[in-house]
Amino acid sequence: MSLAQRWRSARPAVAGIHLDSGACSRQSIAAIEAAAQHARHEAEVGGYVAAEAAAPALDAGRAALAALTGLANADIVFTTGANNALDLLLGAWPGERRLACLPGEYGPNLSIMAANGFTVRALPADGDGRLDPEAAARELAADPPALVHLTALASHRGLAQPLAALAATCAELGVPLVVDAAQALGHLDCAVTPAAIYGSSRKWIAGPRGVGFLAIHRELARRLRPRLPPPEWNLPLTVSQRLELGEANIAARVGFSVALGEHLAYGPAEVRTRLAKVGRMTRDAVAGLKGWRVVEPRDEPTAITTLVPTDGADPQRVRARLIAEHRIVTTYPEAQRAPFEMAAPVLRASPHVDVTTEDLERFAAALAAEK
Ligand SMILES: *Cc1c(COP(=O)(O)O)cnc(C)c1O
Repeated sequence: MSLAQRWRSARPAVAGIHLDSGACSRQSIAAIEAAAQHARHEAEVGGYVAAEAAAPALDAGRAALAALTGLANADIVFTTGANNALDLLLGAWPGERRLACLPGEYGPNLSIMAANGFTVRALPADGDGRLDPEAAARELAADPPALVHLTALASHRGLAQPLAALAATCAELGVPLVVDAAQALGHLDCAVTPAAIYGSSRKWIAGPRGVGFLAIHRELARRLRPRLPPPEWNLPLTVSQRLELGEANIAARVGFSVALGEHLAYGPAEVRTRLAKVGRMTRDAVAGLKGWRVVEPRDEPTAITTLVPTDGADPQRVRARLIAEHRIVTTYPEAQRAPFEMAAPVLRASPHVDVTTEDLERFAAALAAEK
């Protein structure tokens, strides 16, 4: 069986056409069952006893994250998502709060940076918003910030940023690199051993909603000062225990760990190759559609395709009609997603590995029929 067939047959039948993995992929039956099984176990033995019993499953999830990020020597904490992870990290940041990130940085990330007292300067990028690694190396060497933040793959535009090149520059300069891998994990190669990397379960890894992770290199973890409990109380807690304090949906973490295991079993390189092909298939299907312009180059190695209306179509309305009339699920990213790069809302198609040419042709035909 092909990867596409295995991936599709591992999950419940799809109602319509799902082109929305950048928002939330379809979970496998195994991931759904593992989370449900954990909830049943909580009812049988008690939530806190069940949590102890789930420790090996969660450790397997952490090991998978370590493998996917190149962070063997890391503290890996589960969070409620990517935004929560960035807030935890920046809230614990030691010393100077000055960072560099792309002009197309994700809007909610910019708001978390500001709320934590960070000043932000722009990394050099070309007209499409792609990082210029040589210019970045020169600027970072001349005036190193306290950290560099890179969203390796954005949610409003499917450009694969030169993550490995920037990671090499940051390592050479000794500047911590923090990576937003919400869209990149399970999609692009993220095994670049950054200072910290974080992401979500529900996107390309296809785990449950409401869970994510933050992986922190031990060298950085040692320097962090988590706000809670107050450091001056000197409680005997490790950095990861402090960051993971509080109530959590353990069942969701179990489901995420199962989805990570499935991703490793499919083969991360095979998934990447297939997603790159799915991106080409999608762009071929919508190329030349009247009233829409495709942002990504045809061969961009990502499965995110962004359509900009050129003839006045309203992406929010089009998305709603695609669902109501064709059962085709897409995304409508509004301009606040990347306030310094987006001028207007767009329509995003983000199919997973199982999409077929027929699915994409139906999507293109439905879009063509839209006014
Ligand atoms: C979805 C997304 C986030 C936020 O993830 P949550 O898990 O919803 O907090 C952050 N960055 C990017 C690039 C995203 O696509």
